[in-house]
Amino acid sequence: MSLQLDARQRAMLEEMGVRVFGPALPSMGVLDDAPPSPPRGGEAALAAATVAVARPATGPAAPAVAVRAMPGEIAGMDWGTLEQAVAGCQACGLCKTRKNTVFGVGDPQARWLVVGEAPGENEDLQGEPFVGQAGVLLDNMLKAIGLDRRGSGAQGVYIANVLKCRPPANRNPQPEEVRQCEPYLRRQVALQQPQMILALGRFAAQSLLQPSVPEVASLPLGKLRGQVHHYEGVPVIVSYHPAYLLRTPQDKAKSWADLCLALDVMRRGAPRE
Ligand code: URA
Repeated sequence: MSLQLDARQRAMLEEMGVRVFGPALPSMGVLDDAPPSPPRGGEAALAAATVAVARPATGPAAPAVAVRAMPGEIAGMDWGTLEQAVAGCQACGLCKTRKNTVFGVGDPQARWLVVGEAPGENEDLQGEPFVGQAGVLLDNMLKAIGLDRRGSGAQGVYIANVLKCRPPANRNPQPEEVRQCEPYLRRQVALQQPQMILALGRFAAQSLLQPSVPEVASLPLGKLRGQVHHYEGVPVIVSYHPAYLLRTPQDKAKSWADLCLALDVMRRGAPRE
């Protein structure tokens, strides 16, 4: 993609902390030409879900009850019940070491969904995704395209992870953990009905694209960038994980290109597949 940048794009890069293209520019506000939200309603059809689930609690105020997984239940849960089910989940061994589950943060009706990997130490303590240094960068990236984790409407975004519990010592998610947790994210997508999913990092890309790109596990992230994939009919753009960008700031420009692609797709009408 061309990196010919106009003033507004350079301002967006500045918000992301990308300073390689020119002098500092005044920070920009929210995009004023974001497309209007389409009418919402109905849930995306869920593919026949193979699920291993936690039993739902009885209401939003109910305490999390740890229970055994039962197939088929997640696909019928509403948002509050799903959150309670995650809070009580014992489907894998991560429940033994977690302090909190991390369901997600943001507007559950937002047009954008960001998917990361798994909670780290801070996220485990606070019960919210991306609250550490990587989260600061993620917030700046989102701000650069007019989104805010506390926003709604055109500024709204929901942020979730593939895993809802922290892997001990921040080790990589294991395939069985991803398999057990995947129905929760699938149900979040079905309920939210986002128009764009940003998959950040290898694990998010692998988890979301496995059904459509069976060889995804053998592909480097770079090969998945720059194209529009789909998950449950929703467009997916793959990009670098913010933690990787903190270690490799020279790739922030590529991350910016990915955000531009996602914005373009949204402006063209975010076709479902
Ligand atoms: N990294 C992630 O992928 N998710 C978080 O919530 C925090 C760090």
